[in-house]
Amino acid sequence: SDHSLDYPTSPDDMDWTKLYPYYKTQDGKISKQVEIADIGCGFGGLTVALATQYPESLILGMEIRVQVSQYVEDRLLALRENSRVKGEYQNAAVIRANAMKFLPNFFKKGQLSKMFFCFPDPQFKQRKHKARIVTTTLLSEYAFVLKEGGIIYTITDVLDLHNWMVKHLDAHPLFERLDKDWEEKDDCVKIMTVSTEEGKKVSRNHGSKYIACYRRVADPEL
Ligand code: SAM
Repeated sequence: SDHSLDYPTSPDDMDWTKLYPYYKTQDGKISKQVEIADIGCGFGGLTVALATQYPESLILGMEIRVQVSQYVEDRLLALRENSRVKGEYQNAAVIRANAMKFLPNFFKKGQLSKMFFCFPDPQFKQRKHKARIVTTTLLSEYAFVLKEGGIIYTITDVLDLHNWMVKHLDAHPLFERLDKDWEEKDDCVKIMTVSTEEGKKVSRNHGSKYIACYRRVADPEL
């Protein structure tokens, strides 16, 4: 349950400098905005991998479980401390949050360039499907915070969930699917396939990984 979670009333109410102190300016503001979100980041393997892949971008893991988000926080602090490269891992942070709620309170319209949904909880039971992280309503929120040309990445080992996500994303007017050629050339597809803890588990068990990536298209002309 997330009764105890605090949400900013708007993106400007977030004190991002607490999460990314390296990017704090003289006047106490933050010099960059979060651009990449790892939704349900779990133990943070992808968040960590993206930090070095995109050293110029701020990356945010969002995780609902207290202990797990605390683990990722400690992990990132240790990486920052032990790095010999100036600024390394300073661009990655985690917050404990229910990503299905109030995402536009965290991010402004068009702020994000990439959102990752790696091995989301399958919510197998029919009556639990509405609890899935990809639904028509939530996709409209994801479209709001993504910039035009921004990408939603999804990967799962559960075929039924993959089909569900594809069905909802295909039906959404603000997303278009990227083809296999694109997937093969994209760095992030590679990274998300191998770097998350859940993905590693699936590999060890020789499971399948189903991928679907979508581009945020322009808002329709009014
Ligand atoms: N992405 C990670 C990976 O691939 O290793 C974790 C996958 S794990 C199966 C799903 C994660 O999503 C869990 O850590 C769970 O706590 C988190 N989660 C589920 N619902 C969430 C929500 N509404 N907001 C944020 N995190 C959520």
